[in-house]
Amino acid sequence: MVEKIKSQNEVMISKRKAVLFILIAFVFSFATRLIWVDEFKNTEQFKFNNEFMINTNDGYFYAEGTRDLLAGTHQENDLSPVDTAPSLLTAFVAKITPFSLETIFFYMPAFFASLIVIPLVLIGQSINRIEVGFIAALVGSIAHSYYNRTMVGYYDTDLLNIVLPVVLLWSLIWAIKTSKNRYILFMAVDIIVYRWWYPQSYSLELAFFGLIGAYAIYQYVKKIDYTFTLTLITFMMFAMVGLDAIYRIIIVLALFGFLHFQNKLFNKYLIYIFGASIILFFASGGFDPIWALLKVYVFKDSVIVTNDSISLHFYKVMQTIRESGQISFVTFGERISGNVLVFLLSLIGFGWLTVRFPIMLLGLPLVGLGFLALFGGLRFTIYAVPVMALGIGFLISEISRILSDKTKFQILITLVLTIFVLYPNIKHIMEYKVPTVFTKDEVVVLDKLKSIASREDYVVSWWDYGYPIRYYADVKTLTDGGKHEGDVNFSVSFALTSPQDVAARMLRFDVEYTEQKYKLKDGEIDKNRTNIERMTLDNGLNDANDFITLLGSDIKLPPKTRDIYLYLPNNLMGIYPTVKLFSNIDLMSGAMREAPFFHLSGNYSENGEFIELGDGVRLSKKDGMLQVGENKVKVKRFVKTAYESQNKLNVSSQNIAFDGKLSVIYMSDYKQFVVVDEETYNSTYFKLFVLEEYDNTLFEPTILTPLVKVYKLKI
Ligand code: MN
Repeated sequence: MVEKIKSQNEVMISKRKAVLFILIAFVFSFATRLIWVDEFKNTEQFKFNNEFMINTNDGYFYAEGTRDLLAGTHQENDLSPVDTAPSLLTAFVAKITPFSLETIFFYMPAFFASLIVIPLVLIGQSINRIEVGFIAALVGSIAHSYYNRTMVGYYDTDLLNIVLPVVLLWSLIWAIKTSKNRYILFMAVDIIVYRWWYPQSYSLELAFFGLIGAYAIYQYVKKIDYTFTLTLITFMMFAMVGLDAIYRIIIVLALFGFLHFQNKLFNKYLIYIFGASIILFFASGGFDPIWALLKVYVFKDSVIVTNDSISLHFYKVMQTIRESGQISFVTFGERISGNVLVFLLSLIGFGWLTVRFPIMLLGLPLVGLGFLALFGGLRFTIYAVPVMALGIGFLISEISRILSDKTKFQILITLVLTIFVLYPNIKHIMEYKVPTVFTKDEVVVLDKLKSIASREDYVVSWWDYGYPIRYYADVKTLTDGGKHEGDVNFSVSFALTSPQDVAARMLRFDVEYTEQKYKLKDGEIDKNRTNIERMTLDNGLNDANDFITLLGSDIKLPPKTRDIYLYLPNNLMGIYPTVKLFSNIDLMSGAMREAPFFHLSGNYSENGEFIELGDGVRLSKKDGMLQVGENKVKVKRFVKTAYESQNKLNVSSQNIAFDGKLSVIYMSDYKQFVVVDEETYNSTYFKLFVLEEYDNTLFEPTILTPLVKVYKLKI
């Protein structure tokens, strides 16, 4: 009796300890994220309506969905993600809290991502080493790559992407350790929630499934009772089948009722139930996403050929995204643990942890996915963070036990070592001064455009600006962070980098064809055709290049159903050559055309003889010749742009050599030089943004500011 009371007491103390550690770690994690807020509290350009703006482009996607959910309506085919988990969760938070939407977007990552401390502390508790969980919670919640993707303003799925699998890890550990059914239910619900939150989560779920499956086989071979393990993977499989979340919840709950109330019967038919789950998995297309993923990684061509009747070739966006590049081992270690040495120690700690507590091998799927970063790019490192944090936590705990057998000293050693591990991560946070996606001056333009353009109008720009444009101006766009395949980028690239007349016609064509395409039914042959192909065929042609040529004539345009605006930011200048790539291709053969000459210099210097523009480009002050590497090139014209008053641009142009090939443009207020060939000089972007020489039969200025210019299409 006394024994029992004593042990009950211990459980109470252990529970209180866990709650206390969770609270401390949570406050630590959240407060550390306020360093950024403090740093930029006086930076007005990072705020709009006195509230901080977010710093991730994709966040504006979910922000648009939230805005429309709260408004209760949105336009047909405006691509607003009103049924995505992040938008639904955010709208729910907005309903139940008194905070403004902007505050919620901005602080949601800090709050939800800090919840990771809960499963981490509980995992420590599950192996009776709560201090290991506590250290892991402190380190894991703010480690380099986890912080980068969950800092204030990083409003994206990342705010729960790691929390949910760590909860899964915790529930699996508890399930296997205790053989209690309630953890099975917990695990299955977590998988369903995780998939709802982040549909790409299947690969990680499948890895966990494989690991537990291997454990069941091990038990079978060793003639150990594997009933519970098989029950566990059966529930996992049902939670993962390719049906809607609601059906999976119903199946899991019904099955759990069966397991709970008819345990004997359940066990008798377990092998059949398991078989049924596997069949349902394949039959419902549960394997399809993995198959699709494999295909993407196998066919890494830069040019995609559509399999329609005239087989067009488009430039593929994948290779221009920096994220998928390879990273060095040092960067890899730093991103997981803040420092390579700490990373290696964490690895040793994790190895040791699995030797002492083999159940911790369940952390392997997360580690494995994190290690994919060595091949697949830095965005994967984040997955290894929590498990490596457990590794370093265990190592610190062991070292303190080796060095002293007095609790007081152990605590002291633990504290010192933990601070040592936290240091590189906190240092990183203090140096990581990410700006907001947009500055206030840019958002002011979009906010004004919102009152000018109607919700059905299109605002066309490069895809990077798609989501923010839709959020702030409440309009439609042709491309965005999720819609930027080679064929949709083609027309936008074409419009920005071609002369005004063909650009204007392409804009009218592409917007009307985009809207028409939404109205086509699945199965209709045109539904699978790209806009360019339909434009070509509709004009009685079989060669898309002929259609492009036809755009230079007085071609009959599709009927105008709405207004179209061009959004031209100064930031586009830096990516102009990339933008050009997408339309600098022969659509029929796939051959890339020669890149136009483009040299941007924001960091030039002047000496006695030359203006040095960087990368071996220099302008001779003596003879006005341009030196490009070894070659001397004649300058066609020299242009200087300067703002006379706030929004009044003055452009002075001086012709130099009639047969010159390149133009030098000095944008004095931007402190930048641009050297371009005739093709680029005559592009719509240069004419409308840099020079404001618009053809007033085609375009009219709507809002002109130094950072952003918006024009309305007149045809
Ligand atoms: Mn809308």
